[in-house]
Amino acid sequence: MKPNEVRVSDSERLSCSSTKIFIDNGHGQFTPGKRSPDGQLREAFFNREIARRIVLDLQNRGYDAELLVPEDDDISLKERCWRVNSWCLLHGKQNAILVSIHVNAYGNGSERTQPHGWSIYTSRGKTAADALATCIFDAAKKYLPDMQMRTDNSDGDPDFEE
Ligand SMILES: [Zn+2]
Repeated sequence: MKPNEVRVSDSERLSCSSTKIFIDNGHGQFTPGKRSPDGQLREAFFNREIARRIVLDLQNRGYDAELLVPEDDDISLKERCWRVNSWCLLHGKQNAILVSIHVNAYGNGSERTQPHGWSIYTSRGKTAADALATCIFDAAKKYLPDMQMRTDNSDGDPDFEE
């Protein structure tokens, strides 16, 4: 097993193998502002690398995973929503999961800082996304115990809502 490889038992797998998993890499290479103050880290490139690894790993585990934005260009949020909603119209929204990868900004915007940790945001209110987010947190606690999680338990679960 490689150092970053995570093994998931059969009981931890999604119960519905027909679920489509869309991984969104967020911004395009020329999206203004989505970079470190010195310009060395561009969110688009980082997101694409992470998203491609996630999709490949999920596919290798037998899941129907797909990049929502295979292009390097900035695909608008409206277009990304259209792509997912079009799929859902044909196959049912209960059969789809969408995860969008981002790198959050931290600091004053003019100098490099050393933030660490990760978080999950879901839409406001109780939705199916809350349960999925909690599954990810539970798996991370088990398999990535040294990774700092940023949580918001004010509504009874660890994800942030926005
Ligand atoms: Zn972003």
